Amino acid sequence: MDCLFCKIIDGSIPSTCVYEDEQCIAFADIHPHASTHILVVPRKHIGSLAEASAGDSALLGHLLWTTAEIARQKGLSRGYRTVINTGEDGGQTVDHLHLHLLGGRIMTWPPG
Ligand code: AMP
Ligand code: ZN
Repeated sequence: MDCLFCKIIDGSIPSTCVYEDEQCIAFADIHPHASTHILVVPRKHIGSLAEASAGDSALLGHLLWTTAEIARQKGLSRGYRTVINTGEDGGQTVDHLHLHLLGGRIMTWPPG
C-alpha cells in the first residue's frame, strides 16, 4: 500500500519519533504550526476517522490517552489543541488516521 504514514511506521521513511508502543507511534509534524506539533498515528492502517469500525473503539481511546500522556511529557500544563481532520472538507491530506497535538501557544477558535 502506498501510504506515507505506513512507510514512516515501517521505518522506510524517517521521522522524529517522540513516543511508540505496540498500538501507535507519535512523531513531529514536518510542517509544524506550533512549537509543539506532534502526530499520533495508529500502527494499523485506518484511512480516516470515518473508516474506523466499532472494533477500533479501544484503539481510538488509546490514541487519545497517548496524546494526553505526550502532552504531559512535553510540559503542556497550560493546555493544548487536539485535532483530527477527516476527509476533503475536513482538510485531511494524509489518508491514514492521525491525531494532531498542538501546543506552546494560545489557540484561536473557531478553527479555519
Ligand atoms: P492532515 O492534513 O490532517 O492529513 O495532516 C497531515 C500532516 O502530515 C500535515 O500536518 C503534514 O505537515 C504532515 N506530514 C506530511 N508529511 C510528513 C512527514 N514526512 N513527516 C511528518 N509529518 C508529515
Ligand atoms: Zn497507512
